[in-house]
Amino acid sequence: MPLLVMKFGGTSVANTDRIRRAAKRVGREVANGYDVIVIVSAMSGETNKLVGYVEETSQLYDAREYDAVVSSGEQVTAGLMALTLQEMDVPARSWQGWQVPLKTTNAHAAARIVEIPTENIMAKFGEGMKVAVVAGFQGIAPDGRVTTLGRGGSDTTAVAFAAAFEAERCDIYTDVDGVYTTDPRITSKARKLEKVAFEEMLELASLGAKVLQTRSVELAMRYNVRLRVLSSFEEQSDEAGTLICAEEDIVESKAVNGVAASREEAKMTVISVADRPGIAAAIFGPLSEAGVNVDMIVQNISEEGRTDMTFSCPINQVARAEKALNDVKEKGDLNFREIVADTDVAKISVVGIGMRSQSGVAAKMFQTLRDENINIKVIATSEIKISVLVDRKYTELAVQALHDAFELEKA
Ligand code: ADP
Ligand code: ASP
Ligand code: MG
Repeated sequence: MPLLVMKFGGTSVANTDRIRRAAKRVGREVANGYDVIVIVSAMSGETNKLVGYVEETSQLYDAREYDAVVSSGEQVTAGLMALTLQEMDVPARSWQGWQVPLKTTNAHAAARIVEIPTENIMAKFGEGMKVAVVAGFQGIAPDGRVTTLGRGGSDTTAVAFAAAFEAERCDIYTDVDGVYTTDPRITSKARKLEKVAFEEMLELASLGAKVLQTRSVELAMRYNVRLRVLSSFEEQSDEAGTLICAEEDIVESKAVNGVAASREEAKMTVISVADRPGIAAAIFGPLSEAGVNVDMIVQNISEEGRTDMTFSCPINQVARAEKALNDVKEKGDLNFREIVADTDVAKISVVGIGMRSQSGVAAKMFQTLRDENINIKVIATSEIKISVLVDRKYTELAVQALHDAFELEKA
C-alpha cells in the first residue's frame, strides 16, 4: 500500500469540529487507496498554556518535568483524532511517542530523534488498520522518560515518520496555505511561494518563520522527503501549497526570496572581560554546557586590555545564561563587571540562495533600515542570509520596508 504522512498543526485541531474536518481529509486519502500516518499537534494555545504553568512553578525548571507536562497536549488530540476517524468508519488507532517507540536523545525539551521502529505500526496496517494517529512533538529517551522535540516539533515528527516509513509525501496542514515571502500576518503584500529550496527554508525557519520547525527541514533535506505545506481550511488541488525541494528544481532565484523576523531574541553583553586568548572559550564553553543557544557574537573594541562581549540567544534562555556566567565567575574562571540583558530586540533577516552570486544585498538592507531610521544593534551574515538585531518595536516596520525594497511581492 502507498503511504502518506499528514500532519495537522494546533489551529487545525483546535476543537472537535476542526478535528472532524481534518479527519475528513484523512478519510479522503484512505478512499484514494493510501495508508495514512497522521501526526497531530496539541490544540492551539494548549502548549503555551502548559509551558506557562511550568514557568509559573519554577524558573530554572527541570527539563524532565517540563517534558512530562508539555507533552500532554498531543496525547489528547491523538486520541480524539483516532476516535473521530472510528466514528467515520475508518479503522484508526492512536500512538503516543513512547508507544511507537519514537526513540530520542536525552536532551530534554530539545531532544533529537534517534530511531523510529516501524514494526508496531506496520503490523497494525497489516491487520487492516488504515490510519495510525501519532502524537507529535514527543518521544522517549534512553533514561526511559518522555521527551519533547522543541517548540514546533510536530513538524519534525511528521518528516521523521515520512522518512522511516518511506512515505510518498509528507503534507503539513496549517493555518496558512503555504510558505510566503514573509509572515503573511506582518504584511498583506506577502506572496505565496510555489517552491522553496531546502537551504532557503532551513534559514527562514531557523530565523523565525515558524511555519516549519528547522529540524524538520534538515531531515527532509537529508532523507529527500517530498515535503509540502498547505492549508487545512481551504479546499485545494493536488498542486496546492508550497513544495520544499532541492535547489536544482528551482529555475531562477532572486537575490532575496524571503524576510524572516524573530521576536524571541535577547541581546546580552558581558561587560569588561579581559581581552586575552581563551576569553571566548571561557564565556561560550559554559553557555554551551548550560544549553544556551548562542547565535550572533560580537567582540567590542578593546581598551586597556578589557573588552565587552555581546551575543544573542533565545529570550527564554536569559536566566540560564546569566546563571551559567555567574557560576564561572564565582569559580574564578572568568572575570567581568556585569551582564546586561536587552530583552527588547528582534532579529530581522533577509534570505536567498541567489545571494551567493549577486552582490549589494547587505548595502541595500542597511540603507533601507536607515531610511526608516531603524538603528542596527548587531549584524551577522552567512552565504545566503543577512541578519540584524533591532529594537523590537520596529519588527513590522523593518519587515515591511525590506519586503518592499527587495520587491518580494513580485514573482
Ligand atoms: P501550526 O500550529 O500549524 O504548526 P504554526 O503557527 O507553527 O502552525 O505556523 C504557521 C504560522 O507561521 C502562520 O500562521 C504564520 O503566521 C507563520 N509564518 C511565519 N513566517 C511565515 C512564512 N514565511 N510563510 C508562512 N507562514 C509564516
Ligand atoms: N504543540 C507543540 C508546540 O506548540 C508542538 C507543535 O505544535 O508542533 O510547540
Ligand atoms: Mg508549528
